[in-house]
Amino acid sequence: MMQRKKQKVTVGFISLGCPKNSVDSERMLAEIAQAGFVITAEPDTADVVVVNTCGFIAPAKAESLEAIRHAIQHKLSGAVKKVIVAGCLPEREGEQLFNQVDGIDAIVGLGQRDNIAGIIKKTLSHRHPAAYLKQSAQIIPDDRTRLLITPGHWAYLRISEGCNHRCSFCTIPAIRGRFRSKPPELVLSEAGELVSSGVVELNIIAQDCTSYGRDLKTKNSLAGLISDLEKITGLSWIRLMYLYPTEIDNKLIETIAQSEKIVHYLDIPIQHVNNTILKAMRRPDSKDQLKRLIEKLRCAMPDIVLRTTVIVGFPGETDHQFAELLDFIKWAEFDALGCFSFYPESGTTAAQMPGQISEKVKQQRLEEMMLTQQKIAFTKNKNRIGSQLTCLVDAVDSENEGRGRFYGQAPDIDSVCIIKKCQARFGDFINANVTGTKDYDLLVEQIS
Ligand code: SF4
Repeated sequence: MMQRKKQKVTVGFISLGCPKNSVDSERMLAEIAQAGFVITAEPDTADVVVVNTCGFIAPAKAESLEAIRHAIQHKLSGAVKKVIVAGCLPEREGEQLFNQVDGIDAIVGLGQRDNIAGIIKKTLSHRHPAAYLKQSAQIIPDDRTRLLITPGHWAYLRISEGCNHRCSFCTIPAIRGRFRSKPPELVLSEAGELVSSGVVELNIIAQDCTSYGRDLKTKNSLAGLISDLEKITGLSWIRLMYLYPTEIDNKLIETIAQSEKIVHYLDIPIQHVNNTILKAMRRPDSKDQLKRLIEKLRCAMPDIVLRTTVIVGFPGETDHQFAELLDFIKWAEFDALGCFSFYPESGTTAAQMPGQISEKVKQQRLEEMMLTQQKIAFTKNKNRIGSQLTCLVDAVDSENEGRGRFYGQAPDIDSVCIIKKCQARFGDFINANVTGTKDYDLLVEQIS
């Protein structure tokens, strides 16, 4: 009699949230694949659905809860057997999450990330929900061996975990714990692994990249680390994200300015510029310091592309203080800007502050900010018409239209270059002429 082949368990994986969470997802996916599970692109019919959540602010939490509820609906219809929730939301909500959503089979905290395959096996054989939440805040994650969800030619490289700043609006330190750097040898080994697998662009991430190394006995620094990363053969672009403004020192600026590989692109979330609001946010910067920093960066690197993030509608923000922020944005002319309206997140000091701003006013300020930035970005784009760029090709469709980025465009959050008549493959660098613009994107033509 022929033996029926045992079907392998299929796992659908939904990754939400920021690049730090993507790295955790990639680690979990590698563990899941190594354990012999079949990863499917159709989570609605998978045996097990893992939702790696974000719990940073209200909309992110709502998105996570929606994804969990969606998976549970498929469980109720019989298509899915088990639903596992991982990441920041279990870390923030703990076992309360079971009360918030009925039907979750397991919750997995950040410290249990690497045990995900074993947790899936246990969950498949258990009838009752279980929580795996211990040992998160002290762990320095080893992110080597990942199944990349980014295209194979670029990847994120996380250099530290947690944050020691105590911005009054932020839940991150409560979720991710105190700041701890990855040892440089671990970062370099991971970077080497990624480059050997075909990565040419590394995007350096952390909650706060500028604090790198301060907690290590060897007193390494971000400048030292990126100088070492530069030596990796085959790596072409290194991009620094999430820099804390007051911590950007001359050594770091000099290192970036002189580097062949560290692109002249910096992401510096300033959050606000009014000194009273900055103080209430518990940010150590002042408007003058922020202004001087931008001037210094542009003086050291005239071709620098700057991205920032601001919060509008912080408690007590007056019309006048908002106008001050708007004026600064007009003056600074950031190349890209992310704007959030303030969310009073439970557990944060800012949520308890007097002078909470109405949703209507927050929305008006957000729109005004984004329109102001749109004008700046569109003008900057127009000024690039006629110039030549080096572009990293991210994708090419069947009609030879490509998508790519020049050094001033970070993957996933910034605009792109739309490449007409693209003769290259993804992962290639090309030279291109900028011929026009389309909304926030640049239209370019390959010349070599
Ligand atoms: S520096 Fe960033 S992650 Fe750290 S507390 Fe402030 S906003 Fe949160």
